[in-house]
Amino acid sequence: MTDHGKGRGGHRLGKVRLRARSAQALFCLALGMFALFGCQNSPSIPAERADGEILVPTEEAPTYHLLEGYGQRWLEHVRKGVETARTYWGSYGPTHVWIVGREDGAVIAPETRRAFLMEYCRCRTSTSERSLSECLPHAQARFFGVMDRGESEAYLSYVNDTKPPMAELVFINVHKWFFERDPVPDPVLRGIHEYTHVFQKSFGATPTWMMEGGAVFAEAWLPFIHGWRGMERAMERCRESAARVSDPDITIADMEDIDAAPAHVSKYYRELAYDTGAWAIGFMIHESATRRVSSLRDEFYPSVTDLGWETALSKYVRMKDKAAFYAAFGAFMKRPLRQQLDLLKRLKE
Ligand SMILES: [Zn+2]
Repeated sequence: MTDHGKGRGGHRLGKVRLRARSAQALFCLALGMFALFGCQNSPSIPAERADGEILVPTEEAPTYHLLEGYGQRWLEHVRKGVETARTYWGSYGPTHVWIVGREDGAVIAPETRRAFLMEYCRCRTSTSERSLSECLPHAQARFFGVMDRGESEAYLSYVNDTKPPMAELVFINVHKWFFERDPVPDPVLRGIHEYTHVFQKSFGATPTWMMEGGAVFAEAWLPFIHGWRGMERAMERCRESAARVSDPDITIADMEDIDAAPAHVSKYYRELAYDTGAWAIGFMIHESATRRVSSLRDEFYPSVTDLGWETALSKYVRMKDKAAFYAAFGAFMKRPLRQQLDLLKRLKE
């Protein structure tokens, strides 16, 4: 499971909630043990899969599920982000998108809630050994527990031991992230972010900073190439967040696996993985032969599956090894902001 939750203006969820969702990830994976078929056609699965590679190319669009009574506009925002990312990265899955929420004062009737939970649990258990009666209380807590507390969440959870494995994108109370003044509504950005993870999970395993940094970079890059907004301000906010890591000895090299990171590192999950990570992705592309962002999609990720991420990275950035990359990136992050922003102008489509 890869989660993501982000407040406004670059403020991110505290570690408490991130940890809470890690616990939820266990449920996602545990339920995945039993969730089979039922929801989608089954594309053929290669006999051997690279570590971390769990999704496959598919012509099928994601299936969207909206809680009745929650505004259709929220589905449309999320769909715009997901489809923007899917058009760019390519179509992978199978992917289900589950959207629930309760706007101020709204009442969601018990039978409406029940219908949503049944739709979800039928999808997850239709051919499994797990029963609907086991699924329903978990789903109740996962969707409506969060919704009724008024919290907002967006994350990918993947089900990796089904045939086929599948991706679930979950969006809860995304209306709270919506502000009219934003050139690109935040729920659209959340869709871009989470679908980027679907793409990433279709190739070999990559480190935490590359997963989250890639998704945050996509939030800046895709709106930019569509002319919705510039990317400088978004990347500046990432730079400001990266600067909040007060210990100069802690770098993205310490953020290869959030689950293994010690507390003095994991407390900077947001700053290192997401925000420094976004700059690391930009720096990677800049050091590549073509400086084309599309080469990340067309060359780098396929090579991760073939070579493993460390070898793929050193070849892509034309450096001796990942240590050389980390050293070069560390030096880059010490440069003045203006020079850093100039790097973005040299990236090509
Ligand atoms: Zn994420």
